[in-house]
Order: sequence, then structure tokens, then C-alpha cells
Amino acid sequence: MLPNEAQDYETGISHFKSYALSGERVQEHVVPSTVEKSEQSRLDYYDVVGHGHLMKYITASAAGAHNILMIGPPGCGKSMIAKRLPSILPELTKDEAIEVMAIQSVSGSLGVDHGNLTRPFRAPHYNTSPNAIIGGGTYAMPGEISLAHNGVLFLDELPEFSRQTIDALRQPLEDHVVTIARVKQSNTFPANFMLVAAMNPCRCGHYGTGACKCSPTEVRKYRQRISGPIYDRIDIQKYLSKVDVMKKHDDSERMHSADIRDQVLQARAIQEKRFKDVLGVSTNAQMETMHIKTFCKLDSECETLMENTYAKYPFSVRSYNKIMNLSRTFADIGGSEKIRKEDVISALMARDLDKEDAMRLGD
Ligand SMILES: [Zn+2]
Repeated sequence: MLPNEAQDYETGISHFKSYALSGERVQEHVVPSTVEKSEQSRLDYYDVVGHGHLMKYITASAAGAHNILMIGPPGCGKSMIAKRLPSILPELTKDEAIEVMAIQSVSGSLGVDHGNLTRPFRAPHYNTSPNAIIGGGTYAMPGEISLAHNGVLFLDELPEFSRQTIDALRQPLEDHVVTIARVKQSNTFPANFMLVAAMNPCRCGHYGTGACKCSPTEVRKYRQRISGPIYDRIDIQKYLSKVDVMKKHDDSERMHSADIRDQVLQARAIQEKRFKDVLGVSTNAQMETMHIKTFCKLDSECETLMENTYAKYPFSVRSYNKIMNLSRTFADIGGSEKIRKEDVISALMARDLDKEDAMRLGD
């Protein structure tokens, strides 16, 4: 985030807070959300079998607040993995909790248990209207992306959402606020969420296996429902394959959420220290070029690795930055001040879809 954007964000938040606290259109409406939450609190990554490689990226996603897209056939465990993310995320800070409560209050969804607020996890269905997701309606009310502020927005079957909704995510993904303009008024709401998305690799879901019935054009069309700028804002894009339940899996790969969460908290503590004097940045995912220059210095070995990769697969400045942000997160998870070669390699392997860029952008 650039300094003026950071200020916009801070201004947006403070305007919003005074709007929420003024009591305007604040409805006292109680939603029975406690059942859902207690169910959520029982979910543990120990239930996830056979996705050891992906779990490394899930951990990084939570540790550095990186957006993530999982691509895999139906039934491979994408939503099972997404729903367990809250189990490894840090508790809300006091300021974050106030913001979450303010949004819930404005939207009329303040729960009975607001003394014990958990990090939001919103998972709207793809049939949900663009207004309900992005925000809008007669009174320009906050949508799901604002209800997910300081938490997770999970969009399952991402290409099935309307093009209007997908494209409207671009601005909030960049600015972390959303401005909803209506004839009578325009409201700015916070929308600093971690995007967790899932999709099939093609419409039939079996791309890459003999069972796929889609033509290359159909595959391309399906994936192009998500525009380049949206893909660009998703730091981690990983393929998952279906797990063979009959196969014996290596149990040592399975981890309890509590243990993963310890790694996440350790990496977040490092970031808190790093960014304490940096306006508008609190996680590695938010670093822009100028922060990367300061906080992601590479040694000559890592620099050579980046140069060799660039010679083979030229990447944009944005992609370079994303590789650096994510390398920083892997180093933080490893408790290393210095970005190591293995951190850069892990970051370079984070975007499976890049290999198919030529195909996606082919027509
Ligand atoms: Zn297919």
C-alpha cells in the first residue's frame, strides 16, 4: 500500500467508525450465529489427509495474510481445507474487533456473542447477488466483503460467481476499502479481507485426466471468467489432486491446527515488530516495492536464482513483488531474518497457474 493509499484507508476506517457509532441505521437485530461458530471451532487440520504440500502454502497464507486460490477436481478437499483456516489464524486485536463489531452493527447482523468475537469467515454462495457481496442496495449497505473485514472471504467455485461480482473485487483487493456510490449517498466501508477461493480446473472438473470432456477452448473460457487482474492479486495458486482414500497415507505429514497456529503466530509476531513504524502495512502480503527494497534483501545466491528464473520465465514487477512478499513469509515461518534460497524456491512454486499463462491468455 502506498502512503496516500494507506491514509485513504485510515480515513475510510475512521469515517466508517463515526458513521457506525453515530447510530445511523444501526439495527438491533440478533442473528443466531453461535451454532455455526461453535461448529467452526471444532474443525481441525488434523482431519486433512494427503495434502502435505498444500498445507505448507496454507500455513504461509495464514502467516502473511496472502490470498490463495485452490484448483482441483470436485471432492478433493478444497472447501474442507478452506473452512479450517480460522483454526490457525490469530485472535482479533482490540482495534480489529471494534471494526468488526461496527460493521456487524451497521449491517444489522451483530450477534448475541459479540463479547467473544471471532475472526470473520464469510462464505457467500455464487448465487448471492453482487450487491449482497460487494455492498449496495437503497441505503448503500456493507456487503459480504466488508463483513469479512479482518477475516476470510471464502469464494467456493469462483468462476461461477457473476463477472460483475468478480470484477468488483479488484478495487477492494487493492485498496482494502470499498466505496459504494448510490444516487442519494456514497459510503466507504472497510474491506480488508483475506481472499480464499476454490475452483475446478475446468467446467467438468476433471481437466488433466482422461475423464475430462472439455475442449481446450472450453477450458480457456471457463478460466477466463476470472480476469487477469484478479488472478494477479492472488499470491498463491495451487493445484490439488483427489486423494486416494484407500492408499496408506504418511501420518507424519498431518498436523494439528494448534501446532500450525503456533507457526503462524510466530511469523505474525515477527511482522508486527517489522512493520510497527510502517504506515498501512501490518502483514507481508501488504508490502509494496519500497517496503520490499527495505525488508526483502537477497544475497547473491538468491539473486542469481531470481535472475535465472526471470531469463526462463520473464515476470512482471507485480509478480516479482509477490515472490518477494511470499519469500519473506517463508523466511519468517522458518524464524530466519535472512531470506534463504529455500524460501525463494517455495515462493517460486506458489503459482501453478503461471505455467499455463500462455494458454489462459491465448485468445
Ligand atoms: Zn473438463
